[in-house]
Amino acid sequence: MFELPKLPYSCDALEPFIDARTMEIHYSKHHQAYVNKLNEALAKYPSWKDVGVEELLQNLDKIPAEIKTAVRNNAGGHFSHSFFWKIIGPVSAAASAGERGPKGKLLEDINETFGSYKNFKDEFGKQAGSLFGSGWVWFYADKNDGKLKIGQTPGHDNPVMVGHKPLLVLDVWEHAYYLKYQNRRPEYIENWWNVVNWDFVESLYD
Ligand code: MN
Repeated sequence: MFELPKLPYSCDALEPFIDARTMEIHYSKHHQAYVNKLNEALAKYPSWKDVGVEELLQNLDKIPAEIKTAVRNNAGGHFSHSFFWKIIGPVSAAASAGERGPKGKLLEDINETFGSYKNFKDEFGKQAGSLFGSGWVWFYADKNDGKLKIGQTPGHDNPVMVGHKPLLVLDVWEHAYYLKYQNRRPEYIENWWNVVNWDFVESLYD
């Protein structure tokens, strides 16, 4: 059975950029619902219950037709949210004086690929702002050429489904920001950079 992973910080730890009430509902209601629905879908097919979430997402073509869409949506929701909680975190006193940003090899490769960190952020923000409806924006390493890329996915689809290595992600479903930001998605995107856990992103890249 899949379980809701423990949040590595408290719900109010991302204030004021992401508010406690949004975190509470997002984590304990939305994410929990994806876990529950995934378990419900797999209940009738016990042979798939011990398969990891990434493996489920990479083998959708073998999943029984009756539960395929439920598995795609809910395993996707479970994976993407679990990843999202890890790439954000509390703002340290040092970082709060100014946005932290990437360092080391990751920064070098971002500069080489996108021209500068600012260009990278602008491109990521542009894709997050222009995503129509509900979905996610990803920064990932392409499995084919190893290049760093930015891309959108609809619903709860994600780069893992096709074997890419995600490094960073932003949830742009309205449930991720509506309580605090309402229709002001660009403000949510801009504030979210303050809670990116670059140490974790760099460790993934290494
Ligand atoms: Mn979400």
